[in-house]
Amino acid sequence: MHQLIIFGPPGVGKGTQAQLISEKLNLFHLSTGEFLRKAIAEKTELGIKAKETVEAGSLVPDDIMIGIVKEALEKNITADCQSAGFILDGFPRTLEQAVALGKIFEQMNFKNVKVLHITVNEDEIVNRLLKRGRTDDTEKTILHRLKVYKNSSKKVIDHYKNNGNCIIEVDGTGEIDEINKKIHALLGK
Ligand code: AMP
Repeated sequence: MHQLIIFGPPGVGKGTQAQLISEKLNLFHLSTGEFLRKAIAEKTELGIKAKETVEAGSLVPDDIMIGIVKEALEKNITADCQSAGFILDGFPRTLEQAVALGKIFEQMNFKNVKVLHITVNEDEIVNRLLKRGRTDDTEKTILHRLKVYKNSSKKVIDHYKNNGNCIIEVDGTGEIDEINKKIHALLGK
């Protein structure tokens, strides 16, 4: 069973790669960003609460995010034997989220979680995001999201290093297909 976390800065291609990987390996794909955007579009209670924060590129509070992920994993993994595991995309983003996720994994008996860490240089990221054109892809918000990422990402990666998780480093520069092939080779598929 593949138990994956895809981690990296905004615009590195996490969403695209997570989608491709989940299709090929039949994984449950949870993108917390997509989850929030859907809630915002549907104007649910969560969406109304989170709208301003997401559009400003800041982080939605940890307790809300942890609740979303816990519920989604419990609903989709234990009850659904169809999927061969999961890929988390956009979560965890803070040390607190990573620690809480570790507890959820323990409860659910997921012992082989791997972290796919994708990186590219910052200029490339800004260019990619400006082309994408989501409502949170203005230059100001992009720079803010990069800052938010820099503030919390090292602690998250260090947490996984210190816990002995397998971290797979991937250079995300280049074509989608090429990067995808590299990832599958590294995952052993
Ligand atoms: P993404 O699609 O992963 O780039 O996420 C888009 C936005 O959703 C982020 O800029 C945050 O505002 C919010 N978001 C997504 N995942 C998280 C998370 N794990 N913790 C806090 N906020 C999140």
